[in-house]
Amino acid sequence: MANRFIYLDHNATTPLDARVLEAMLPYLKDKYGNASSIHTKGREAREAIDKARRIIASALGIAPEDLIFTSGGTEADNLAIKGVALANKDKGNHIITSKIEHLAVLNTCQFLEKRMGFTVTYLDVDKYGMVSSEDVKKAIKKETILVTIMHANNEVGTIEPLKEIAKITREKGVYFHTDAVQSFGKVTLKIEDLGVDLLSISAHKIYGPKGVGGLYIRKGVKIYPHQHGGHHERNRRAGTENVSGIAGFGKAVELMQEDFEKKTERIKILRDKLHRGLTEGLDALHLNGHPALRLPNTLNLSFEFVEGESILINLDLKGICAATGSACTSGSLEPSHVLTAMGVAPEISQGAIRFSLGEINSEEEVDYCLEVIPPIIKRLREMSPLYKGGIRENGSIRE
Ligand code: PLP
Repeated sequence: MANRFIYLDHNATTPLDARVLEAMLPYLKDKYGNASSIHTKGREAREAIDKARRIIASALGIAPEDLIFTSGGTEADNLAIKGVALANKDKGNHIITSKIEHLAVLNTCQFLEKRMGFTVTYLDVDKYGMVSSEDVKKAIKKETILVTIMHANNEVGTIEPLKEIAKITREKGVYFHTDAVQSFGKVTLKIEDLGVDLLSISAHKIYGPKGVGGLYIRKGVKIYPHQHGGHHERNRRAGTENVSGIAGFGKAVELMQEDFEKKTERIKILRDKLHRGLTEGLDALHLNGHPALRLPNTLNLSFEFVEGESILINLDLKGICAATGSACTSGSLEPSHVLTAMGVAPEISQGAIRFSLGEINSEEEVDYCLEVIPPIIKRLREMSPLYKGGIRENGSIRE
């Protein structure tokens, strides 16, 4: 067993900040009220929810009443897409998305297509995982009611041109939703800059608790609730609120904003050092994702001639946690749908590893990674019949 532990999987989830836990504990203990109750205990809970809503709304630059709490990013995506689709069916039945979305979006679109009579256009992306706003424009037809394109991709980190797309959806009178679960907390994000009508976020990607998320819904957007019950969240999301989780989400957002630029710049420097060091120590290495328009913490690299799963196991033995695809698709041996959509050849995508850094990482940890990763890759390559020291079997020299 390794005596080191280095967590480089922050896009899967982040550790709960101790200060967030502190903010949550009272609502798991003495302040156990139901936020719908009129009495003192109920009011304590309501105040905690209102406070968190104010903090998060202010971070997004929106009015608090335009944010509703959900059970996470997945529910926020489901509510946005199904909610808009069902409420606007009289206007049309066409939805536009991209091939690189998270499964929370892709499978929701497929459900609407297979079961509810909608048609969906799944847009291609370029080799960097970038959606073209021109393609969005071309795909819009008179039946189109919703465009849903993620802000930043969870596997490769590419940041999509939301502003340009929003200009088009505005002109065409089509609603625009974005899944900002990965970008929130990693890049500056203000609703008015992006121009979207709906936006999903999740607490556990920003050192908050799992099982809490939020959906921004612009005033005037017609949306149908996808679960039915009480009058919570202004009739848009029934169910007793997760008070401690919401309080934790608010605290996580408050902390996220402290020294935001300094923190993200530090993480980017560490990520780039890791990238540079690995490139210097190894050949046949490919960066997946946009070289510049990318989340500052995300480094997705393909180590040609090696299986991603073998790398992960060997990294784990050295105490390093990374990922192959997204946490939701790992465990399946299918090549990543994101890398496939980017046109990455199967023999290259199979050796893809996502390193996603965060606040807890240090330079010393990156140095350790640079010491142990190249020998792991070299050893695994020595076992590969396809690897001949930088030269392909057909004789061509690799970059
Ligand atoms: N969307 C994206 C881009 C994600 O990366 C994730 C989580 O990995 C989700 C949605 C789902 O969020 P949650 O885990 O809060 O349901």
